Amino acid sequence: MPELSQNLVFIGGGHSHAIALNLWGKQPLADVNVTLISNVRHTPYSGMLPGYIAGFYCFEEVHIDLEPLAKFARSRFVLDRAVGLDLDNRRVICGDRPPIPFDVVSIDIGSTPATIATPGAADYAIPAKPVPQLLHHWSELLDRVQAEPNRRWRLAVVGGGAGGVELILSMQARLWRLLPPGDRAALEFHLFQRGCELLPSHNPYVRTTLTRLLGDRGIHLHLGETVSGLTREGGAIALQCASGFCVACDRVFWVTQASAPEWIARSGLATDAAGFILVGDTLQSLSHPEVFATGDIATMQNHPRPKAGVFAVRQGPPLDRNLRLFLQNRPPQPFRPQTQFLTLIGTGTGRAIASRGAFGCGPNRLLWRWKDRIDRKFMQTFR
Ligand SMILES: Cc1cc2nc3c(=O)[nH]c(=O)nc-3n(C[C@H](O)[C@H](O)[C@H](O)COP(=O)(O)OP(=O)(O)OC[C@H]3O[C@@H](n4cnc5c(N)ncnc54)[C@H](O)[C@@H]3O)c2cc1C
Repeated sequence: MPELSQNLVFIGGGHSHAIALNLWGKQPLADVNVTLISNVRHTPYSGMLPGYIAGFYCFEEVHIDLEPLAKFARSRFVLDRAVGLDLDNRRVICGDRPPIPFDVVSIDIGSTPATIATPGAADYAIPAKPVPQLLHHWSELLDRVQAEPNRRWRLAVVGGGAGGVELILSMQARLWRLLPPGDRAALEFHLFQRGCELLPSHNPYVRTTLTRLLGDRGIHLHLGETVSGLTREGGAIALQCASGFCVACDRVFWVTQASAPEWIARSGLATDAAGFILVGDTLQSLSHPEVFATGDIATMQNHPRPKAGVFAVRQGPPLDRNLRLFLQNRPPQPFRPQTQFLTLIGTGTGRAIASRGAFGCGPNRLLWRWKDRIDRKFMQTFR
C-alpha cells in the first residue's frame, strides 16, 4: 500500500508557529501528520517578557504551553532540540532521538544575541536568549539581592536597542521594589551602547525621552563604547571597552544583535551573510521550497526587517495559508510585511512609550494599559 499521508514538521515553538498551530487546530487538513519539535514545553511571548522581569506577570501569563497547543492541532509534540537537517533525505536531525521525516518543514526557532565575537562574553555574560536561561539567572539574582540587601550590586546590560533599554529599566524597577528606599543606592546599573545614540532604529523623540529617563533613574549610560572583552577579576566581571574604559560588574546581560545557530547554514540551506535562512515572499527557502522559515531565523530577501517579535506574529497567518497550499500542490501566495510598526516600550514602572515611524509619545500609564491589553488578548487566543 503506498503511503498517502504527508508529514508536516514544525521546528521551534516561536510566535509564527504558535499562531499557525492554533489555526491548524481549527481547520486541520486530512491525511497530514503534524509534528512539533521544540526544545521547551513553555515558549515565552517576547512582548510580555520585560513585564515579567519587572514583576507585573507570572510565568504562566507570559508563556504559551506548547503541549496542549500541539494536542489541539492534532499533532505529535516532541520535546527535543533540532540540531541539523538532512535535506537530501528530508529528515530533521534531533539531539536525543532518531531523525524525523518530513515532506514539508517549517522553521521558527528565533535567534540568540551574538556573543562569539567578544572574548569572554560566552563565558561570563548572560545572553537575553535562550529566554529560560535568562529567567533562571534573573530569578537567582532576585533571591541573592533579597538575601543580601545591604550588598553592593553592579549590573550591566550590553546593547542599547529597544530590548536592552527595556530590560535594564525593568530590572531596575523590580530590584528597587524589593529593597527599602534607603538601600537602593547599593544597586548600580550600567548600559553599554556601541553607537553614539540609543535605539538607533527609533525616532528622535523616543531616543531623547529614553536617554533622559535613564539619566533620571541614575542608570550609567555608556554611549559610543564597544565592549571588547570580559574577564573574571576576583569575584567580579571586568568589562573592557575598545576605548580603554573598564567597569567591574557582578552580572552582565547581553542583548546585542541577533545571531543564528550554525546548523542552519551547515544543512545546505541558502542563508544571508549572518547565517539566517533566506526566504522569498512566500516564506519558502530560496534554495529548498519544501522548507519554510519565519521569525528571527528568517530573512525575507525582498523585505528585510528588524528581528522583532511583531514580524514573527504577522507571519503566522500567511505561513499557515502557504503550508496548506503547498501540501495541496497549489502555489503559495506572496506576503509583504508592513514597513512601519508600533512598538510600546515599558519603563518597568507601569508606564510605556509609543514609537511608530516618526511618531512617539509617552511615557504614561495609559500606553502601558493599552500594551497590557493587546498582549493579554494575544495570549488569550492560546488558552
Ligand atoms: C529582552 C528582550 C525584549 C524583547 N522585547 C520585544 C518586544 O517587546 N517586542 C518585540 O516585537 N520583540 C521583542 N524582542 C525580540 C523578540 O524576542 C524576538 O524578535 C522574537 O521572540 C522572535 O520570535 P520567533 O518566533 O522568531 O522566535 P522565539 O520567540 O525566540 O521562539 C523560538 C522558539 O524555538 C525554540 N527553539 C530554539 N531553537 C530550537 C531548536 N534547535 N529546536 C527546537 N526548538 C528550538 C525556542 O525554545 C523557542 O521556544 C525582545 C527581545 C529581547 C531579548
